[in-house]
Amino acid sequence: MDEITHKIALLGSTGSIGTQTLEIVRQNKCFKIISLSAHSNIKLLELQMREFLPEIVCVVDEKKAEDLRINTADLGITVVSGENGLCEAACASKADIVLTAVVGISGLKPTIAAINEGKDIALANKETLVTAGAIVTRLAKEKGVRIFPVDSEHSAIFQSLQGSADNKIKKILLTASGGAFFGKTREEIADASPGTALKNPNWNMGAKVTIDSATLVNKGLEVIEAKWLFDVDIDDIEVLVHRQSIVHSMVQYVDNAVIAQLGAPDMKLPIQYALSYPKRFNMSDNDIDFIDINTLTFEKPDLRTFPALSYAYDAGRTGGLMPCIFNSADEAAVDLFLKGKISFLDISNIIEDCMKNISNILKPTIDDILKCDIQTKQYIYDKAYR
Ligand code: NDP
Ligand code: MG
Repeated sequence: MDEITHKIALLGSTGSIGTQTLEIVRQNKCFKIISLSAHSNIKLLELQMREFLPEIVCVVDEKKAEDLRINTADLGITVVSGENGLCEAACASKADIVLTAVVGISGLKPTIAAINEGKDIALANKETLVTAGAIVTRLAKEKGVRIFPVDSEHSAIFQSLQGSADNKIKKILLTASGGAFFGKTREEIADASPGTALKNPNWNMGAKVTIDSATLVNKGLEVIEAKWLFDVDIDDIEVLVHRQSIVHSMVQYVDNAVIAQLGAPDMKLPIQYALSYPKRFNMSDNDIDFIDINTLTFEKPDLRTFPALSYAYDAGRTGGLMPCIFNSADEAAVDLFLKGKISFLDISNIIEDCMKNISNILKPTIDDILKCDIQTKQYIYDKAYR
């Protein structure tokens, strides 16, 4: 019999990362789900509850949580709700690792709560480190908590660093698929619809991160995420557009040796490695054939068409609240774009506007960050962008 070695709190279990995590749990008897959470998709959450029999689940929407309590009364599983409920699900006493796969800044509070309880973090929710990297990494150190990256690029960097802890890095080479509009001019994408922006060439992801890939905001968020995860200077991180998404990122050491992790564009490997580390478990369906791939290409990102990537570098260099302003502006702008209220190019215009006009604090507290998130989104919704 396989012994249970990892007890997992899974936040965002109904999303793209969440459902893939559950596929991995299905295939590895050593993983056990202790808690699950969704925002509103209670149909899928109920199916997950019946299959994985967690101890506690959270539905952020209170009304839907009540419906779920009624529908699953036969299971005897605690159903909590709201932001506090999400923290409860993250801190479920039997869980030893929390996989944070909620989208947006909503991941911040539960991640901090889990770190305070000494739980390791498998981090998909990059927004946590973007908005509060200084506080979160300091707290994790204090509490002896490990943060394992789930984001494929950061997992690749993490894997490329194994066995080299004492060696100096010259730079990190962070790869990007280039998103739905690679090779297009500003004029060509000015009227792009959400439908076309939602077509990533290689990755099948949630809506927000797919739009972020098309604007290169996702790569900007990942640059800031990498800075905190690997304690590197933002200007020692170089973004390379790599259309095939086979080289998931690279580390260049001071002797110019470059170590990379390669694999199929499939999130299940980085998710599984974040949970199985330092071991590697079997995995099927993700074999790669280099003869078939044939060519790997690398190009500079087009910052004229996709200026949000340079705004992310600016935000990361400035620090304080600026990365939060960058992130929150993007969250609201993507929401408006998906609702058809603004154009594709407005997303980066709005980010630039917020970074220019919302005031920064250089050493913010978590409360400052959460206030800044609300203020930034309000600034956008109140303006002509409605
Ligand atoms: P999805 O949109 O597919 O899923 C998001 C999950 O979070 C769902 O379970 C959703 O619930 C829940 N959720 C949505 N809004 C809230 C909220 N306000 N509070 C609490 N929970 C909420 O996202 P992804 O799985 O694509 O991405 C999740 C995170 O992982 C993001 O931070 C993303 O950047 C990161 N990531 C994703 C990758 C991918 O391949 N998808 C790759 C690398 C990183 P419901 O279903 O009920 O709405
Ligand atoms: Mg990524």
